[in-house]
Amino acid sequence: MSTNSGTCPPKTAIYPGTFDPITYGHVDIIERAVEIFDRVIVSLGRNPEKNPLFSVEERLEMIREVVENIAGVDVDTFEGLAVRHAQELGAEALIRGLRAVTDFEYEFQMALVNRRLAPDIITVFLMPNEKYTYLNSTIVREVASLGGEVGRFVPPPVEKRLAKIFGGK
Ligand code: ADP
Repeated sequence: MSTNSGTCPPKTAIYPGTFDPITYGHVDIIERAVEIFDRVIVSLGRNPEKNPLFSVEERLEMIREVVENIAGVDVDTFEGLAVRHAQELGAEALIRGLRAVTDFEYEFQMALVNRRLAPDIITVFLMPNEKYTYLNSTIVREVASLGGEVGRFVPPPVEKRLAKIFGGK
């Protein structure tokens, strides 16, 4: 489905995040976002404060491999504010995933701050399939580091890289 069947200009959204690593929860959100927007840019924040398991390059490579068959998706990185990045790219929306009530307070605050900073950028919240509501990258890293099976949580390119680091399949 495309929202751009008439003469409207193409609608672009960015989906910012850390993606350390990308999980099926992120993929679920991306697949929903491309139903609404003509172009979805998955954008990796180069946040120097976090201490990621995977380098920016490794995370980008995994994202690219995972989204290569989803039409309308591009991959990028940004530094600083996600809303500025959205403005620079001519996007009109920021996509965020809402898993549970626990995400809500922080996300609500962020969305309001972002609206103050950039009133032209809309935050769009999408809910994943309920089977992914418990899932986040931290849990995946923990399970993998303890030798657990992560094939249900992450796509094969990610599973392979986790196995390389922690051993396993
Ligand atoms: P995390 O919150 O897993 O550390 P990110 O910073 O990469 O990860 O998250 C980017 C966006 O994706 C956030 O809006 C986050 O809420 C959303 N997200 C992460 N995991 C899921 C999931 N399992 N289902 C839906 N949204 C998710």
